[in-house]
Amino acid sequence: MSYRIGSGIDFHQLATGRQLWIGGVLIPHHKGAVGHSDADVLLHAICDALLGALCLGDIGAHFPDTDMTYKGIDSKLLLEKTYQLIVQKGYSIVNIDSTLCLQAPKIAPFIPAMQQVIARIVELEPADVSIKATTTEKMGFAGREEGLVAYATALIKKT
Ligand SMILES: [Zn+2]
Repeated sequence: MSYRIGSGIDFHQLATGRQLWIGGVLIPHHKGAVGHSDADVLLHAICDALLGALCLGDIGAHFPDTDMTYKGIDSKLLLEKTYQLIVQKGYSIVNIDSTLCLQAPKIAPFIPAMQQVIARIVELEPADVSIKATTTEKMGFAGREEGLVAYATALIKKT
């Protein structure tokens, strides 16, 4: 049995007048994430973890932010396309672990919905998609609510 592991990290700025999509869920907040796509930091980190597991480069190489095809795109579609690459290479996902890092809003109430959305796309059970959240205790850019970060790790196995 062949296993491979990958890690991903993503950052986005927060600004007023944008929607806050995290883990495929729209979160009510007075600020949203800035980006070429819907700027879903968690889905982007998970895509990078999956691509990393198979040494396929990064999300920017597959879905360039200079390509108008991806302007405002729902990042669930990017995760779906990334997952298809994994499947085409003959792998399936064992589990995903992730951590969100932001000062506000409180993310805990939205985590079960995010797990459902992600699990459905990558053909896992919600219990195989761990999502944790932390603040930076008001330190740095995340603490000042200028931006947010997501980290993800994915284990995949040859099917
Ligand atoms: Zn991103």
